[in-house]
Amino acid sequence: MLTGNKILYKALAGASVLALIACSEPAVEDDTTVDTDMAETAGDTSGEPTVEEAEAFVADAERQLAEISERASQIAWTYSTDITPEHEQAYADIDAESTKLSVDLANGTKRFQDLDLPAVLQRKMNILRGGITIPAPSRDGAAQELAQLNTALSSAYSTGKIQFEGEEVSQAETEVLMRNVKDPAKLEEIWTKWREQAKPSRDEYAQMVELANAGARELGFDDVGQMWRSGYDMDADAFAAEVDRLWGQVRPLYENLQCHVKYKLNEEYGDEVVPLDQPIRADLLGNMWAQQWGSTYDRVKPETPENMTSIDLDALLVDADYTPVSMTETAEEFFTSLGFAPLPDTFWDRSQFVQPEGKEVVCHASAWDLDNKEDLRIKMCMTVGAEDFRTVHHELGHNFYQRAYMDQPHLFKNGANDGFHEAIGDMIALSITPEYMQQIGLLDDVPGTEGDLELLMQQALEKVAFLPFGLLVDKWRWEVFSGELTPETYNQGWWDLRQEYQGIRPPNERPADAFDPGSKYHVPNNVPYMRYFLAHILQFQFYKAACDQVGWEGPLHRCSFYGSEEVGERFNAMMEMGQSQPWPDTLEMFTGTREMDGSAVIAYFAPLNEWLEEQNADRNCGW
Ligand SMILES: [Zn+2]
Repeated sequence: MLTGNKILYKALAGASVLALIACSEPAVEDDTTVDTDMAETAGDTSGEPTVEEAEAFVADAERQLAEISERASQIAWTYSTDITPEHEQAYADIDAESTKLSVDLANGTKRFQDLDLPAVLQRKMNILRGGITIPAPSRDGAAQELAQLNTALSSAYSTGKIQFEGEEVSQAETEVLMRNVKDPAKLEEIWTKWREQAKPSRDEYAQMVELANAGARELGFDDVGQMWRSGYDMDADAFAAEVDRLWGQVRPLYENLQCHVKYKLNEEYGDEVVPLDQPIRADLLGNMWAQQWGSTYDRVKPETPENMTSIDLDALLVDADYTPVSMTETAEEFFTSLGFAPLPDTFWDRSQFVQPEGKEVVCHASAWDLDNKEDLRIKMCMTVGAEDFRTVHHELGHNFYQRAYMDQPHLFKNGANDGFHEAIGDMIALSITPEYMQQIGLLDDVPGTEGDLELLMQQALEKVAFLPFGLLVDKWRWEVFSGELTPETYNQGWWDLRQEYQGIRPPNERPADAFDPGSKYHVPNNVPYMRYFLAHILQFQFYKAACDQVGWEGPLHRCSFYGSEEVGERFNAMMEMGQSQPWPDTLEMFTGTREMDGSAVIAYFAPLNEWLEEQNADRNCGW
């Protein structure tokens, strides 16, 4: 689960999106060891720095990072699959140790910043300097302080509970309630209570921001947000402009969807709960964060043509006696059909497929590579159904990617950019088409295209609805880290973005001390989020490229490249590169273009978009 610049990849997906989490990790036994090692390998550092010294420094860094990465992964795995105070402490300790090492190494790169280095070496230096998610200042004790704050924030989230109808309800259960409950008063209650429990974290979060910014400044960045934006082989400001450009490509489609959903909810709930001249109430969209709207499907779907039975993947999986393990085997088979080798036996022995009894675990789905070689695992709390069927295809995308680049140098064991890691698995999941379901025996016959608007609506409620949320979480953090928002304005700033980009509003006036962004996993856990936005663009771009490669001529959303070894070969060539070259070079290897591009999203949803425009013709859209 680690990679690159000592980045620990946990990966999440669960109820939410998908994901690979990166937390900074590596470290060394203790300071003395580090210093000694450096002195030995790096030689005398009193004179002018040389290229040879820089090479030795990086080689030593990679060795130390590989060592700590493996150790940290084991500890993180133990913690995530058995949350106890002891494991939590061990996790905090290794986190501090890792952060300390990362910070020392990042600071160590400063000595070489004016040297003219060979390109590969320079790239590794840049990764060492900029690749820490949450950098601690180098002063004594700062790394420990930061690690304690982060562990406290993370634990408060994972173990948070609310009281609802006389029962204690866990975080995961609140998500189920948000999906299934329809009564607006009850939805508001659950929604509000989950945010109550995030409130006390605001001050710790603010302390974390202050410490991490100090760390980022020591490394020569303006703040942590600018440091995060610098990780994309382009200038930080250019990257901010790039994501706005991509959003501009897909925004009209989102607005059409938002408008239709608002009108359908208005039909159901009336003008008082869903006034047509306002943004949509956030608790009515079937998701705790209004980030994916799939559970509103029955209420917003296109009419099913007569005599047409829609595909119910949940029922198909249950009727075919699928289990969590056999769903995983089916996902693995997708990859082997492309020519990839099967997963190792240890994957099946060591993964957590279902929620264990009698202990607290981190249920958020994740994909791990514990030794940066072949100790691949997933950690999920699966139930048999369409959602986890897609999620497990997604998680295995991470695992196959991790294995594809395992022979790269340690600092290059990572996605081409962080959107790539998330996009790979989702591209595979897009291939779960009726044709594919028939190929694997879930469906007897492939239905005609007359019911496709339904399939597209299901996809759009997950993937198009997600786009503005994927964009705004880090837009908010950029404002937090830059100081544009202060603890007093954190919450207002959050809702300003939610309204501007998503067209949603809170169900009630938010208290002055609320910390609503803290109710979302990735905020207390410091998982950068822009990767999910990029992944939602890239997965369609990858998918279209694969479909072009197999010569698909039908509607894009019906294409499956299952079984194509030709696609597998080019796919593997892209994945094997890891982070060893600028991502446009890697993107070009598979897609033939050097730019991220939202036009495949538009092409995929074209029939639905046309239908939405008809539906919205006489409606008042916008907010
Ligand atoms: Zn993922």
